[in-house]
Amino acid sequence: MSGGRPVPLWSGSRQEAPPGLTAIVCGGGLAGLAAATVLAERGVPVTVIEAENELGGRLRTWPVALPDGSVLGMERGFHAFFRQYYNLRALLRRIDPDLSRLTPLRDYPVLGPGGLVQSFEDLPTRVPANFFAIVRRADTFRWRDLLRVNGRAALEMLRYSSDRTYARFDGRTAREYLDSLNFPPAARRMLFDVFSHSFFNPEEKMSAADLLMMFHYYFLANEEGLVFDVLDDTFERSLLTPLRDYLEARGVNFELGRRVTALSPAARSIEGSVPGGAQRDGWRVSHQATDGMGSSREQDADLVVLGLNVSALRALVEASPAAGDPPWRSRVDSLSETSPFAVWRMWLDRPTAEGRAAFVGTAGFPLLDNISLYHLFEAESSEWAARTGGSVIELHAYGMPEHSTEAEIRTAMLAGLHELIPESRDAGLVHEEFFIERDCPAFPPGGHAQRPGVETPEPGLALAGDFVRMDFPTALMERATASGFLAASVLLRPHGVSPEPLQSVARKGPLA
Ligand SMILES: Cc1cc2nc3c(=O)[nH]c(=O)nc-3n(C[C@H](O)[C@H](O)[C@H](O)COP(=O)(O)OP(=O)(O)OC[C@H]3O[C@@H](n4cnc5c(N)ncnc54)[C@H](O)[C@@H]3O)c2cc1C
Repeated sequence: MSGGRPVPLWSGSRQEAPPGLTAIVCGGGLAGLAAATVLAERGVPVTVIEAENELGGRLRTWPVALPDGSVLGMERGFHAFFRQYYNLRALLRRIDPDLSRLTPLRDYPVLGPGGLVQSFEDLPTRVPANFFAIVRRADTFRWRDLLRVNGRAALEMLRYSSDRTYARFDGRTAREYLDSLNFPPAARRMLFDVFSHSFFNPEEKMSAADLLMMFHYYFLANEEGLVFDVLDDTFERSLLTPLRDYLEARGVNFELGRRVTALSPAARSIEGSVPGGAQRDGWRVSHQATDGMGSSREQDADLVVLGLNVSALRALVEASPAAGDPPWRSRVDSLSETSPFAVWRMWLDRPTAEGRAAFVGTAGFPLLDNISLYHLFEAESSEWAARTGGSVIELHAYGMPEHSTEAEIRTAMLAGLHELIPESRDAGLVHEEFFIERDCPAFPPGGHAQRPGVETPEPGLALAGDFVRMDFPTALMERATASGFLAASVLLRPHGVSPEPLQSVARKGPLA
């Protein structure tokens, strides 16, 4: 395993922050927790303010009661921890040095209608051997089809470089780009549909440049193989509680169930060795209980990380007229959230057949993108299944049409489940949790130039999250973590503190 390449960063003259500096992190998702980790490790007293009663954001776990009396953890659903998530792995090592809580899923098959299967197991890890191995395995692709493929367009995958790819392809949609490849329709579906949907954005609304960056990041530049790991238990048990304990041991204070409502400049005077004297600007953060009970409170700090999801960030900036200059405010305002997704977890009264994969992607099934068999990898679900003889199955649909109704989604999901896991047809439903949400960031055509980065025009204020512009290839949980690390480092830079190291896959494709 390569462990990634270091991202060039500045160097600092000290490991510890000067005494007297304080920080507030708004949002307790992965981005906020990563930022809090670096700040706390450098000796800064940190308060994390989180609107929900649990930490984790899109990874949070909340309790649900089953009719049999079991109380189990429910989540936003299945998450794949890819091997090239170097920075997330560095965060996990703080609480689990050997990464013993990550369990490998050896394969990640994509299942299509009529028994089509595309496997990603044991692929070569180098370009272009991995590309040709995938194409050779695809039942939907014949070598003669290569003659029709648009080679120039396909080579763009190997030519990724941030400047060139965004300049040429950000104005086009992922759908236009994928259509231009001229793959046979079935092969296009099996090879590319699952991939583009995994970022929650429908192809027709996603930037082709962002799609090419994802190909580069997840496949062509990924020397760890396309297999991934999963956490062995609920996120609460295997990640969030241990990380909270780690942070509390370093003095981090958590304000849960409180929503940040506004941000304004505050004069801060501190003692100690801060360049430029004892008086300097900081921030006043207003927050109030999410349930509307209790009064608003204000808290000042020198450093603030905004680790919010897109709609919350936009609302906060809107409510904070003194935060940021007009160009930056309009960049924040340009952000949006993509189409809704649905998650349906079912506790069934009978097991699944022997030998099933714990996770499968699906292609060619409307409103169904993947199926995970929780009883095969998550400890809490396995214990429940062992006790009751049942199974725990979760279905996801991403990038759904805006007006899909719950009834349509359920019908479509169930049809796919019954075709792909036929033994589920006769199973009785013990309990279910179903929800539709839309809080994942959009990556629309033309969005890159305006996308705000970690640094803001304001001293002492930085952004983190899976929507933030980064200058190396990264996505999803890894992008949230890397941006959180970088946000903390950027805020400590004027104080001479060494940055948290960052790792990346190769930043350019082999033909760039
Ligand atoms: C169904 C699903 C499946 C996914 N699968 C994968 C996967 O397989 N692999 C992968 O890498 N990624 C996956 N992701 C994406 C991953 O969950 C996110 O990229 C990551 O969790 C984002 O972290 P974040 O900290 O940027 O944002 P968030 O987790 O959204 O954190 C933002 C936090 O801010 C809080 N907040 C909002 N408003 C306020 C306010 N006013 N005051 C205080 N707090 C506030 C929110 O409650 C939240 O806790 C998946 C996401 C979903 C929904």
